[in-house]
Amino acid sequence: MREKLSDPTPGFEPLTVPRREHPISRSLIDPYALKILYRLNRHGHTAYLVGGGVRDLLLGRQPKDFDISTSAHPHEIKALFGNCRLIGRRFRLAHIFFRGGKTIEVSTFRTISEFGVEDGPLVSDNTFGTPWEDAFRRDFTINALFYNITDFSVIDYVGGLKDLEEGIVRCIGDPAVRFREDPIRILRGVRFASLLGFDLDGESTCQIQTSGEEIWKGAMPRILEEIVRMMARGTARSAFLLLEKLGLLETLLPEVTTYNQREGAVPYQDLLGRLDARFLEGSEPEPWLILSCLLYPLFDSSVRSSGKTDLVHLAKEVVSGPANRLQIPRKIQDRVRQVFAAQVRLFSLGAGRFRTGTLLRKSYFNDAFKLFEIVAAGSSEGQELVLRWKELMDGSKQQSPKKGKHRRRKRRGGKNPTPPLAG
Ligand code: ATP
Ligand code: MG
Repeated sequence: MREKLSDPTPGFEPLTVPRREHPISRSLIDPYALKILYRLNRHGHTAYLVGGGVRDLLLGRQPKDFDISTSAHPHEIKALFGNCRLIGRRFRLAHIFFRGGKTIEVSTFRTISEFGVEDGPLVSDNTFGTPWEDAFRRDFTINALFYNITDFSVIDYVGGLKDLEEGIVRCIGDPAVRFREDPIRILRGVRFASLLGFDLDGESTCQIQTSGEEIWKGAMPRILEEIVRMMARGTARSAFLLLEKLGLLETLLPEVTTYNQREGAVPYQDLLGRLDARFLEGSEPEPWLILSCLLYPLFDSSVRSSGKTDLVHLAKEVVSGPANRLQIPRKIQDRVRQVFAAQVRLFSLGAGRFRTGTLLRKSYFNDAFKLFEIVAAGSSEGQELVLRWKELMDGSKQQSPKKGKHRRRKRRGGKNPTPPLAG
C-alpha cells in the first residue's frame, strides 16, 4: 500500500486558472453533475469536477463521464442525495442515480487510490485526505486537474495543464513506484496516449520498456478490460503500435509479434485502421470484435499453412493460448472461434461447397459478417465479396423463411476455400 503523503511544503499553492483563461463553460458540463456540485457546495463542502471530464473539456473533447470529488464524507453525501447508494468495501464511493439510467460517481478526497491496495479490512476514515492529497494519488498529471464550482476556476496541483499543452501523459511521482502499486496504470498510460495522440513521458517509457512483465502482477480481468478499452474508441491502431513500441505486445500477445516477423504477414496497422473506421462511423466495437481482429491473422495464417478442414478445431488452437493467458471469458472465446470458422465460408462464396442460405440463417452470421467486412475490405476482391453477400442478405430478407423446408440447391464445385487475407 502506498504510504500516506506528507503535507505539502508550507506555502505550497496550486496553479489556479480563472474562468476567463480556460475554455470550460458550464454549458459543457452534464446538468446532473452541476446539480451535485452546487448542492454539495451549498451545504458547505468543497466540490470539484475531476478526472477525465476536466481533461477532456480542456482539450475540447466530449467527456465520457463526469466524476466529482468532495470534502463531504460518504455518509454526508448520502444524507444530501436521496437517489444515492454507497458502494465499495475498502473505499466508500457514492453513486448518484438519475432518470434515464445515468449514474454520477462522487468520491471523498482521499490519500490513496482504490487500486493497488492489498485486500484489507473495511475502509477506515484515515484514507480521507485533502484536495492536494487527492490530486497526488491519481495516476497521470492530465487526470488530476480540478474544476472548482465556486469560482469556475481550474486547479492544478501536479503540472497537468503544462502537460496537456505539451501533449504528455506523465506519471505523478516515480513511475517505478506508481506502476508497482498498480500495474494497470501501465496500460492506462497506453490508453490515454493513444486516445489523445500524446507521448508517454520518458521515464515512464523507460520503466515500461524494462519492466513490462510487471503487468502480470495486476488483476487479470482488469488487464483484459484495459486492452479492450484502449482499442475501443477508434484507437486500436495507435494503441497497437504503442504496445509494440513499448515491448508490451510481446508480453501480452507473443504469438502476434512472432506472426508479425513472418514474411507476407498482413499489416496489423491496416486491419486495425479498418476497425477504427467503424468507430468513426458511429459504432463502438464490442470486446469480441476487438479480440477477433487481434487474433484473426493468426487463424488465417494457420488455415493456409495447415490446410486443415476442421476449422472449429483450428480456431480453438489459435485462440486457446491468448485466451488462457488473458483469461478471456468462455463466452467470448466461443464467439471468436465461431466467427473465425465462418470467415472461410464467407471468403469462398462461389467457390466453396456449401449453401449460402444455411450460413445466412446461422445465429452467428451477423457477427461473422462484421469481422468479414473489416477483413475483406483489405482487398478489392474482398470488397466485391462483401457486396455480393449484402445482395444475398437483402434477397434472403425479402423471402419469408419457410421453417423446416429447405430448398435443395445444386452444389457448385470449387477450389478449397481459403480466405484471401494473407494474399
Ligand atoms: P475516461 O475518459 O476513459 O473515463 P478517465 O481519466 O476519466 O478516463 P477513469 O477510469 O474514469 O478514467 O478514472 C477517473 C479518474 O480516476 C482518472 O482520471 C484518475 O484521476 C483516477 N484513476 C483511475 N484509475 C486510477 C488508477 N489506477 N490509479 C490512480 N488514479 C486512477
Ligand atoms: Mg472517466
